[in-house]
Amino acid sequence: MAADPLDSEARFELLPLPRIRLGRAGGPAFAAGLVTVVLLFATLGGLSSEAQAVWPFDLFFERGPISRRAAEVLADAIRIPTANPPGNERALARRYAAELRRSGIEARVIETPGSDGSPRRAAVWGRLRGQGDRPALALLSHLDTVPADPAEWSVDPFAGKVWDGFIWGRGALDAKGVGVSQLMAMAAIADADIALERDLVFLATPEEETGGRDGAGWLVENHPELLEDVGYLLTEGGGVKISARRESDSPPIWGVAIVEKAPCWLELEARGRAGHSSSPTPDAAVPRLVAALDRIRRVEAPIRVIPEVEQMFTALVPVAAEWDRAGYLYLATTLEKDEGFQRRFLGNPGQNALVRNTVSITVLEGAAKTNVAPASARAQLDARLLPGESCTDFAEAIRRVVDDESIEVRELLSFPAIASSPDTPLFRAIEEVAGRQAEPGLVVPRLIGGFTDAHWFRELGITSYGFVPRALTANESRRVHGIDERIGKETLVESIRLTIEIVRAFDRLESAESGAPRSSGANGMSEETRREAIADG
Ligand SMILES: [Zn+2]
Repeated sequence: MAADPLDSEARFELLPLPRIRLGRAGGPAFAAGLVTVVLLFATLGGLSSEAQAVWPFDLFFERGPISRRAAEVLADAIRIPTANPPGNERALARRYAAELRRSGIEARVIETPGSDGSPRRAAVWGRLRGQGDRPALALLSHLDTVPADPAEWSVDPFAGKVWDGFIWGRGALDAKGVGVSQLMAMAAIADADIALERDLVFLATPEEETGGRDGAGWLVENHPELLEDVGYLLTEGGGVKISARRESDSPPIWGVAIVEKAPCWLELEARGRAGHSSSPTPDAAVPRLVAALDRIRRVEAPIRVIPEVEQMFTALVPVAAEWDRAGYLYLATTLEKDEGFQRRFLGNPGQNALVRNTVSITVLEGAAKTNVAPASARAQLDARLLPGESCTDFAEAIRRVVDDESIEVRELLSFPAIASSPDTPLFRAIEEVAGRQAEPGLVVPRLIGGFTDAHWFRELGITSYGFVPRALTANESRRVHGIDERIGKETLVESIRLTIEIVRAFDRLESAESGAPRSSGANGMSEETRREAIADG
């Protein structure tokens, strides 16, 4: 017999989740170090205009080819529907490959498995050879999108309409807009004959929106040659958040995702006596399942502030409301001691999810008919765990909360949360570029509650950041997976420009930090000379 659904007190005690581990993450010394970094960064920001003067693509952009090409390719990409399921990404992979080859970049379309055995799924890969042998940088996006219901949109989501300064359609932001800005950045570098100390790799994968196992997951396992010498990677997951209000004095926030929460998707299956529902029995499957879910729904996981989150909020201190600054600076202790702060902080679901494991009940399945008591009933849970915790342990905790032998708890999907350190030349390159903009950005390393394909690459030891240098307001970001998704033509061009800047800053910093001698360019000019020559002439 199932336990009383309301008998849920002290259930949290059953969860073997770590108790509050406040303060351990960093404490004042750690925080003070970060503040220094932030201040130093603010100082560097002051040098911005001079650094911008050597930007070599100004002329190139004024002529307009890349911006025009980018808008055309993105509109085309939107016109090739890749709503997943079923995805059918192959046509888009070919379109991207053709565009890479147009700039002389080696490109391949790689067939990937489809669940129905159809050969219409594929990834696209390109490699722009550099002149040195430093670790390659990969630019990763995905080809598939979530579906869109044309009835809900004010424009056809698959028409690739260019109107009112925007490119409209499903994928304009997530992630065709990402793929196209990365592709165009590479094309611009190739077209301008800029020699880098390393190769640049372009990769756009299928199946990301449904987990990526047959997309990025399959590629890293079956085509390791695509990632040869790749040491660093940039993909979606973070970007530049700007305020909609012009007069706002808060700087653009450059959020760089360095770690994601680990998904732990579980299925619960309750078995019970089947029969006619006109004479109910206490051990029927559906009520047992409902009772179990009710217990799960009441579980409140303990708060745990991991170092990455501590670091993230320390970096956000300059833009925090005055009354929250101390809380951001000493997040763990303030969450423990200051009830008002705790209420404000946890009242924001996004923030709440950064400091504890969460679980959402999503799928429910019972009988197909009103008058049937089914032999089994199923539910699925979407749990997201903080780094360092295992799905197996979490499933065990759920079993204890459920406390019903007739209910089986199975793992559907999980992978560990692996962080990429922000102490790398790639992160420093992002900081440098953010600091030299007309409106210097505040770079914040962060944990994100969702997941992207980045984890497949972090598992290989590749430093992977979720960061696309694209400035969006909160309002614009809300169109991701929503209706009327669109990207401003200027935003797209700006993100291409910033991607090129980051690639070049990274190339210089990584080479300098490694102590590698700078080789001379194809035309015999060193990179510095070449840059000056372009700037002068
Ligand atoms: Zn995406």
